[in-house]
Amino acid sequence: MTLRVGVVAVQGDVSEHVAAIDRAAARHGHETTIVEIREAGLVADCDVLLVPGGESTTISTLLAEEGIDEELRAHVAAGKPILATCAGLIVAARDAGDDRVDTLGLVDVTVDRNAFGRQADSFEAPLDVVGLDEPFPAVFIRAPVVDEVGPDVEVLATWEGRPVAVRDGPVLATAFHPELTDDARIHELAFFAPRDRPAEAGTSRQP
Ligand code: GLN
Repeated sequence: MTLRVGVVAVQGDVSEHVAAIDRAAARHGHETTIVEIREAGLVADCDVLLVPGGESTTISTLLAEEGIDEELRAHVAAGKPILATCAGLIVAARDAGDDRVDTLGLVDVTVDRNAFGRQADSFEAPLDVVGLDEPFPAVFIRAPVVDEVGPDVEVLATWEGRPVAVRDGPVLATAFHPELTDDARIHELAFFAPRDRPAEAGTSRQP
């Protein structure tokens, strides 16, 4: 089938995510139609959504100005998948501890916006992720970390003891940038893996 993929494109990295989604979809026998979301009225027709990295203050402001914020909430309320990465995680969180970010509350976590950014600007680390049978090469760029996790949130990966990948119902969110490697397994986990069997090794690596 053809999957209609909305990529929030008000600001931030879009093209790498599109490439990763296309690779993930192809592995599961799907084609994609990519819809770049910069205005209201496009989200409702999308099967899945992606909220990329960038600058969370700018992204959240533009989403509210355009009225896309409510559409993202409706998408999640309908149980449809979202992958939110880095600044996307910050925007999707319940609280970011920063008045300049108008968080959407799509994921029941609080985040520390530039937690890793204060220590090191960017780094790559092999990350054990629940549902993947081999470590994922995670690229962190001025990355946030998750502070508090709500009762229904599953932590999929931690780095130095702090959550950096979480799932809350239909929303998968990462502090790192899964689109910056050739490895599309996080996009597969977000959009194609059976949600009820996250620990089953190999589910994300079907031919
Ligand atoms: N820390 C940045 C912010 O607050 C996010 C960085 C990123 O998306 N690479 O928006």
